[in-house]
Amino acid sequence: MTSSTGSSPKVAIVGAGLTGLLAAHGLKKNGFDVVIFDGEAHIDARPRDWTIVLHWALPVMQALLPDDVAAKLPRSICNPDLEFDANAESFPVYNGITGDLMFASPMPGSRRISRQRLRAVLAEGIDIQWGKRVRGIAAHNAGSPSPALTLAFEDGSTIAADFVLGADGANSRVRGIVVDDVDKARSTPSGLLFATAIVNYGDPAKVKTVTDKHPVAAAAMGMSAVGGCGVLYVNDGSEGAKAREPADWTTFWVKIWKGQLDKTIQGQDAIEMLKNSDSSKQLAAPFNLQIEWTPEGSVCYIDEMKYWVPVPFGGLEATHDGRVTLAGDSAHPMLIYRGQGFQHAITDVDNYIKALVATRNANWDEAARRREFAAYDAEMIERGAKAVTQSVQEAALSFDVEKVSKMLMAKQGHGRSA
Ligand SMILES: Cc1cc2nc3c(=O)[nH]c(=O)nc-3n(C[C@H](O)[C@H](O)[C@H](O)COP(=O)(O)OP(=O)(O)OC[C@H]3O[C@@H](n4cnc5c(N)ncnc54)[C@H](O)[C@@H]3O)c2cc1C
Repeated sequence: MTSSTGSSPKVAIVGAGLTGLLAAHGLKKNGFDVVIFDGEAHIDARPRDWTIVLHWALPVMQALLPDDVAAKLPRSICNPDLEFDANAESFPVYNGITGDLMFASPMPGSRRISRQRLRAVLAEGIDIQWGKRVRGIAAHNAGSPSPALTLAFEDGSTIAADFVLGADGANSRVRGIVVDDVDKARSTPSGLLFATAIVNYGDPAKVKTVTDKHPVAAAAMGMSAVGGCGVLYVNDGSEGAKAREPADWTTFWVKIWKGQLDKTIQGQDAIEMLKNSDSSKQLAAPFNLQIEWTPEGSVCYIDEMKYWVPVPFGGLEATHDGRVTLAGDSAHPMLIYRGQGFQHAITDVDNYIKALVATRNANWDEAARRREFAAYDAEMIERGAKAVTQSVQEAALSFDVEKVSKMLMAKQGHGRSA
C-alpha cells in the first residue's frame, strides 16, 4: 500500500496535545509518514498550564521518543534541580480539616512536568499544521485502495490520509465519528468544579508554605473541597537554565468542589469567587491561605470536570474499516485523581504503533489491519472504561475524611490499576 505521495502510508493525527505529539514521534521513529492537524492558531494560543506527574508509563514514553528528544525531557520538569529521593518521588495527602498528614503515595522514578513545556519539547521536529480544526472524515475515493480517507477542516480545506488517529482531547470530534452517535460520544459533566491557578507570590515565606507541604506537590482531602499545591517553574525553561531564588518561583494551587458550570470562569472573576468561597476558607492551612494570597492578575480557571466511559465503536463503517481510532483524552477523558490520564495515553500510543507496525509487517493486508485495530480498540476501550470509572469512584470518596482511606490512592497508591 502506498500513499498519495507514492511512499509509505500517511497517518494524520488530529490534535497536537501531548498524546498527538508523542504518537507523531513514535510513528516517525518507526518510519511512518505523519502529520498533525490542530484547531488552535499556534502552540502558545492559550496561557493555561498545569502539571502532570509522569510515573508508571514514563519508561514507555522514553522508549517511544528518539534519543535527542528524550534527552530534552528535563527541560519540562517543574524543578529539575531537586534531589529526587523517596520523599520527592511521593505524593502526600493531608487531612483537609486538621492539616495532618494522612498518607504519602510512593511514586518511584516519577517526575512532575509542566504540560506547556513538555508540549514545546515534543513539538520540535514534528510537522504540525495549526489552525486546522477537523470537521469530518470521509472515504476518499470509493474503490481506490489508497489513500483511503479525506479529512475535512472547518476552513473548507481537505487532505488525504491512509490512517487517522483522533487525539483531539476530552471533547473529541473524532469520537463522535467512530462511535457513530454524537449523543453517546458526549462527555458526562461530573458535578465537580475544578480550579487551577498559576501564582507568583514574590515572597519566600509564602513559597515556603508550598514546599514545606512537599517539594513537588501535595493535596488536602476529606473536606467539602479538595485542595492542592506545588511548584510549577523554578527557571525560564531554556536549555540548562539556572534556578531562580525561591521567592521568585512560580507555584500553583488547585481546588475541587461540588458544583456545576455552563462555561469556564477565568482570571480575576475566578480568583475573587475562590477567595470568597466558604469551602476555600474552611480548607486546612496553608491550602486556604495559598488561595487567599493569590496576587491580582494571576492565571486562574474554573471548569466543570467531565469524563466519558468508553463504549464499543460503531463497527467497520464508523472506523472506516479499521483506519480511524482514538488515543488519550479523546478515548477516555477521566477525572484527575491519581494522575492516570496521560499514563493511559502513553499506553494507547505504544499499542497503536504496535498495531500499525504489525499491519505493515503483514504487507498492509486488509484482514490483518481489521484484526489489529479491532484488538487495539477493544483493549483500549476496556482499559479506558476501567480507569475512567475508577477516577469517578475516587472523586466520590475524596470529600469525606472517613472515606479517604478507602481511596485507591491510599490503598494502592498511584500504580497502574487498569
Ligand atoms: C489539571 C490536570 C492535571 C492532570 N494531571 C495528570 C497527571 O498527574 N498524570 C497524568 O497521567 N495525567 C494527568 N492529567 C491528564 C493529562 O493532562 C492528559 O491526559 C494529557 O494531557 C493528554 O491530553 P491529550 O493530548 O489527549 O488531549 P489535549 O491536551 O486536550 O489535546 C487535544 C488537542 O486537540 C486539539 N483539537 C481538539 N479538537 C480538535 C479538532 N476538531 N481538530 C483539530 N484539533 C483539535 C486541541 O486544540 C488540543 O491541542 C491531568 C489533567 C489536568 C487537566
